[in-house]
Amino acid sequence: MKHDFFNLKNKVAIVTGGNQGIGKVVAGYLADAGADVVIFDLNDASEVAEKIAEEYGVRTAAFVCNVTDPEDVEKNIQAAAEKMGTLDLLFNNAGICLHKDALDCTPDDWLKVVNVNLNGIFFVAQAFGRYLVAHNKTGNIVNTASMSGTIVNIPQGQASYNSSKAGVAHLTKSLAVEWASKGIRVNSISPGYIKTEMTGTVRQDWQDYWVSTIPFRRMGTPEELAGAVIYLLSDASTYTSGLDMIIDGCFTVV
Ligand code: NDP
Repeated sequence: MKHDFFNLKNKVAIVTGGNQGIGKVVAGYLADAGADVVIFDLNDASEVAEKIAEEYGVRTAAFVCNVTDPEDVEKNIQAAAEKMGTLDLLFNNAGICLHKDALDCTPDDWLKVVNVNLNGIFFVAQAFGRYLVAHNKTGNIVNTASMSGTIVNIPQGQASYNSSKAGVAHLTKSLAVEWASKGIRVNSISPGYIKTEMTGTVRQDWQDYWVSTIPFRRMGTPEELAGAVIYLLSDASTYTSGLDMIIDGCFTVV
């Protein structure tokens, strides 16, 4: 390629929720594009980080971090910056899902989902944005929203998840505008049904129903999201901010 603008060499990328699922796979692809990778997860992701370093010859690190705790997030952003020398990119991806009808949802159920999926995304983005501004740096953020922020999935009840993800998409636009003058771009991806640990344990008849309603007639894979994240985090998308990119095998199109 004459214009090597998907290249992430000399960039340090944080991936939240990178111990498994979408985060783990995309972390590998970011490393393949040249980025050094830092994983934040509730669990120790050292093994994942070491494997990525071995496979792609980049620097990696793993930090146990609860995205719902702003002090923990702040502490880990500082620690990651110290360890890696700098921070440039954020794939803000950690999230949880609860299949429970709204009528049965307890206050704790609701708060837990919104806390991880919306508050957690904000706390990490805020700490990362503060780091960039304090160090006079530009940077890029990709948040993981969901097609559930646009449509309502059936047959499962998941109002807490859907609402939190609609919040992520609009938070993305809000931060994109607030931080445009600071050279910080903020975009989101909104995956459709993707085969991961999150969806793999869902009852089979629901999974079968989902597949029957997706025009592609299959669920997506985390690998099929990686190109979009690289595009949005790289210099291939320098005029793009506030975008919510839906990647769903046409689910929301029909
Ligand atoms: P997984 O459950 O496979 O992975 C999520 C990761 O996030 C896990 O490692 C999990 O750790 C971690 N995590 C959860 N809570 C926290 C927290 N408080 N702090 C730090 N890390 C945390 O999910 P997916 O990979 O499928 O999903 C990744 C993102 O993509 C989520 O935001 C999800 O909502 C979104 N998404 C997924 C879709 C899908 O079909 N799979 C569709 C659309 C969006 P632990 O295992 O300990 O909980």
